Amino acid sequence: MKKLIIIKYGELTTKKDNINFFIKTLKANLEETLSNYKCDISYDKGRMFIESDDDLEIIKDKVKNTFGIHEINIAYKLDNTNFDNIASSLLTLIEDKEFNTFKVETKRSNKNYPMDSMEISRKLGGVVLKNKQGVKVDVHNPEVLINVEIRFDAAFIYFEKEKGLGGYPVGTLGKGLLMLSGGIDSPVAGYMALKRGVRLEAIYFDAPPHTSEAAKNKVINLAKKLAGYSGYVKLHVINFTEVEENILKNCPRDYLITIMRRMMYRISETIAIRNNCKCLVNGESIGQVASQTLTSMSAIGRVVKLPVIRPVACLDKLDIIEIANQIDTYDISIEPYEDCCTIFVPDHPVINPEPELCEEYENNFNWQDMIKKCIEEETVIKIENKISEEYSSIL
Ligand code: ATP
Ligand code: MG
Repeated sequence: MKKLIIIKYGELTTKKDNINFFIKTLKANLEETLSNYKCDISYDKGRMFIESDDDLEIIKDKVKNTFGIHEINIAYKLDNTNFDNIASSLLTLIEDKEFNTFKVETKRSNKNYPMDSMEISRKLGGVVLKNKQGVKVDVHNPEVLINVEIRFDAAFIYFEKEKGLGGYPVGTLGKGLLMLSGGIDSPVAGYMALKRGVRLEAIYFDAPPHTSEAAKNKVINLAKKLAGYSGYVKLHVINFTEVEENILKNCPRDYLITIMRRMMYRISETIAIRNNCKCLVNGESIGQVASQTLTSMSAIGRVVKLPVIRPVACLDKLDIIEIANQIDTYDISIEPYEDCCTIFVPDHPVINPEPELCEEYENNFNWQDMIKKCIEEETVIKIENKISEEYSSIL
C-alpha cells in the first residue's frame, strides 16, 4: 500500500468559474514550497495528492503552512477499489493499532460503486468487529476514526485529519506591498493579507546610522517567517536617513511623525506601482498611537491613490499578539532595536493633523528629489524560506 498526502481545498471551492486557476496556483505554490523534495503532485476538482519517497511527515509540515488548504491527511492508497481488497487492507493497517472503540466514515465520489457510503461503512465496521478482539463501535466519540474514500481509480484509508490554514492560495488575488517594520503589527498584517491570496513584496525604511544593522536583520528575519507561507518575499530596503533628517530640520516637532509617514507612503506607492503591486498593506491599528487616529490616517493616506489595506485596523493589541505568537514572529518583533519612527518620536505628536499644514511644512524642503533618490538607490533582497541557511540573496 502506498502512502501519500491528500489535500482538501479551502475556501477556493466557492469559486465556480475560475476554480481551475485557484487549484493550479495552489499546485504551483506547493511545488515552490516543496522544491527541496522529489514530489509528484496531481489533482482533480475535489482533492490534491502528493506522492513522494521522502518523509511524508516533514512534507506535511511544509504543506500545513500553505494557504488554500482546508484539511490534510496522510493516507494509504489502494489501486484496487474492490470491497474485499479495501476490507483486507484495512485489517492489515489496524493490525497493530490498540483501541477499544472506533467508527468508520466513508465518502464515495464514485457514484457508480456498487454500494453507497452508509453500506460500505456498515460492512467495513462488521469486518473490523469480527476480526479485532474486544473492540466496539462508538459513533459519537470513537478512539479511532477510520476514514475511507472511494474514488474512480483508487480508494484511500486514513486515520488522522489535520486542519489546514484555510484562505486562498497566495497569488490568486494579485500582489501588494507590505510596509514591514520590525514591530509586532506589520508581520501579522502581512500574514493576514497572504491568507487572502495576496502575494507580498515588502518595503522597509532603514535610517543608518540612527538605526542599526541589527534592526534591519530583524526585518529580514520577519520577512523570512512570512516567506514560510508564500515561498519567497522580495524585500525593498530604502535608505530613509536624508528624508528623515530633513523633516527633523524643517518641520515642527509635533508634525514629524505625520510627515515622515506621508513620505513613507509616497515612496511605497512608487515602489508598489513599479512592481505591479495593486495595494499597500500595513500594520496600522485604529487608535493605537497618535499617527493611527482616523484623522491621522486620513491626513497620511491622502498622499497616495493606491488602496491601503490595514488588516489589523480593528484588532485589539492582544489579538494581534496572539496571531504573532501563532506565526512565530512575536519573539523576533520584541527584540529591542530602534526603529526609524521611534528615534525621533516627539513627546506630543499631533493627534488631529491638518493636511494643509502638512503641505505647508513639507514645502520647507525639496522632498521630491530626496524621495526620488531613495527610490533609485533602493536595495532589493529576495528572501526565501528554504531548508538551507542560504535563504537570502541580493537580486
Ligand atoms: P508595528 O508594530 O508593526 O511596528 P506600530 O504600532 O509600531 O506598528 P507605527 O510605527 O506607527 O506602528 O507604524 C505603523 C505601520 O507603518 C507599521 O505597522 C508598518 O506597516 C509601517 N511602518 C512603520 N515603520 C516602518 C518602517 N521603518 N519600515 C516600513 N514600514 C514601517
Ligand atoms: Mg513600529
